[in-house]
Amino acid sequence: MATGPTHAMSGLLVWSAVTALATDHAIGQLSPRAWVVGAVLATGGALLPDLDHPSSTISRTFGSISQGFSSLLHGMSHGVYRLTRTRRDANRHGGHRGLTHTVFFAVVAAIITTSVVLASQKWALPVLMFVFCGLAIRGVLHKWDGRNDALVITVASIALTALCLMWTDRTSANAAACGVAVGIGCVAHYLGDAITEQGCPMLWPIPLGGKTWYPVAPPKIMRMRTGGTVELVIVAPIITLLSIWLGLAALQHTGALPFLGGVKLLPWT
Ligand SMILES: [Zn+2]
Repeated sequence: MATGPTHAMSGLLVWSAVTALATDHAIGQLSPRAWVVGAVLATGGALLPDLDHPSSTISRTFGSISQGFSSLLHGMSHGVYRLTRTRRDANRHGGHRGLTHTVFFAVVAAIITTSVVLASQKWALPVLMFVFCGLAIRGVLHKWDGRNDALVITVASIALTALCLMWTDRTSANAAACGVAVGIGCVAHYLGDAITEQGCPMLWPIPLGGKTWYPVAPPKIMRMRTGGTVELVIVAPIITLLSIWLGLAALQHTGALPFLGGVKLLPWT
C-alpha cells in the first residue's frame, strides 16, 4: 500500500478531477455543499479499504469500535478469499487486500452510502461525514501514535463535520454524488496499492491468468516502494498540488469562490 497521506490525497484528487472536468455531467454541476460533502467522503473513502487489517493505523481511528468492525471485515474477507480462490491463487490468509480491495466492494460501498443518505439527510449525513472525516484525519496523520489519538480524532472529526455543514448549509447534499464519492475514494486507493510492490486484486472475481484474485499492477519499473523516496518526494507532492488546484477549480465551478472574479482556474472550461 501507499502511505496514508498519499492515499487520502489521491481520493481528494480523483474527486476534484472528476467534478472539475465533467462539467457536462450532473457530477460536475454540484452545489457547494454537495461538493464539500463529496470531498470529505472521497478523501476518507480512500482509506476505507484498509479497514480490513485490524492492526493497521486506520483501524485504530475510533479505538476499539473501529478495531472491532475491522476484525469483522477481516474475517469476512478471509472467508470470501478462501471460498473463491483458485489453485493458482496464493495460499495466503486473504483477510487483508482481499474483498475490500475490489471494484465490487467500491460499488457496494457506493450503493450503501447512497441508500443511507437517501434515508436521512438530517441524521445519516452528519454521521457519515463524521466517520469519513475520522478516516481522512487518521490517514493523513498515519505516523501519529498518541495515547488519546482515538479521542482526539473523534473530537476533531465532530468539529470538522460541523464546520463543513455550517459553511454550506444553504442547499442539500446529493445522495448519488455521496455514493460516487465513496466509490471514487475506494478506486483511488486500489490504484495507489496497484503501483506498489504487491499489486491489488481489484478485478475479482474476473479470472485472469487462472487467478480470481489476480494482483493487478503496472510493469515493475512503474511501481514504487511504500514510503520510499519516489512516493514522498515525487508522487505525494504532485498529487497534493494537483488536488488543491483541481479542488479549487471545482469549487469555483460550484460558485463558492466569487472573490476570484473573472480569474478562471481551468481556462478552457
Ligand atoms: Zn490497501
